Amino acid sequence: MIVDASGLAGARLLGEPPGIARHDLCSAAQEIRAVRDRGAAEALFARHRVPLGEVLSFVGSAGGYSVLNLRLEGDHVSMLTGSIPAEGHPSGRAMIERFAAEHPWIGPPIRAGARAIPLGPPALPLARGRVARIGDAALQVFSAHGSGIGAGLVAARVLVDAITRGGGLAEYETRWTRERGGLLAAYDVFRRYSQRITLAELERLVTTGLLDAAMMRPAMTQLPPALDARALLEKAPRALRERALVSRLARVVARMEAIRALHPLYPSRPGAAREAWSRARTRMIGRSWVASRP
Ligand SMILES: Cc1cc2nc3c(=O)[nH]c(=O)nc-3n(C[C@H](O)[C@H](O)[C@H](O)COP(=O)(O)OP(=O)(O)OC[C@H]3O[C@@H](n4cnc5c(N)ncnc54)[C@H](O)[C@@H]3O)c2cc1C
Repeated sequence: MIVDASGLAGARLLGEPPGIARHDLCSAAQEIRAVRDRGAAEALFARHRVPLGEVLSFVGSAGGYSVLNLRLEGDHVSMLTGSIPAEGHPSGRAMIERFAAEHPWIGPPIRAGARAIPLGPPALPLARGRVARIGDAALQVFSAHGSGIGAGLVAARVLVDAITRGGGLAEYETRWTRERGGLLAAYDVFRRYSQRITLAELERLVTTGLLDAAMMRPAMTQLPPALDARALLEKAPRALRERALVSRLARVVARMEAIRALHPLYPSRPGAAREAWSRARTRMIGRSWVASRP
């Protein structure tokens, strides 16, 4: 058996990852930089009420789908950024350069790296004959924050279990798609929404409490969205003041649920049923762009 784990720009043994356009690429960068002035660094964390050792995170400074994370570690600072340049925003590396230029306490890089992370619903097929794909090569990425490490490791577990049980690569494809594919595809719907919201909209969602810690926690821990009825009722008065924002968010959440519900129905064998299933998923993904528009 041959497993293609060669990433986004790798061997592509099962062909191009389908449907990946420039708007589906997150430009991510990570740097460890020297700290020139520890006092100034600590003052920034104190100003944002973030304890030392925790991550200070600026969300939305380069488009709805962007983040700049800082963590102070001894005599250096760790910086992690991500954005979607195809939406007209600076790249992850440019975000780091800009932030460092604005904060003279940040010194030169000690270690640095940057590359693209593919965002999209997981690729299919995952296996053909004796060849399978996994990780970024199969778009097994938690799109909402461009995290592929956990998703890839879980897929590796499913792959190994399928092989050792005798089900082979075909079982890997069916089991993974049914049990894990829906979660990643659903959060990709959220990613499409988040990359089109403006900083002003994001601020309103947070300051009105419509997007709060309880709603964000599942996304941070890569679990299905949890929409508790009581919590939603408590939000109702604020929701009435932000009808347009809320109805757009509700459309997105409905699409997330629909696409998640489709995945456990992935047919076990290639053929007409699978083709019909794939067409249904493609239609849902198309509609999710529409749902995410204002
Ligand atoms: C700056 C940055 C920060 C990130 N932070 C996080 C994070 O905090 N959490 C998280 O979950 N994810 C994060 N990600 C995403 C994560 O790194 C990727 O999703 C993950 O590394 C994908 O793993 P992979 O093994 O599928 O592919 P890759 O890591 O791309 O590995 C593919 C390997 O295959 C090799 N290769 C390529 N072509 C061939 C070939 N033809 N033959 C043989 N070998 C080949 C490559 O050299 C490479 O070593 C981050 C990404 C970036 C860029």
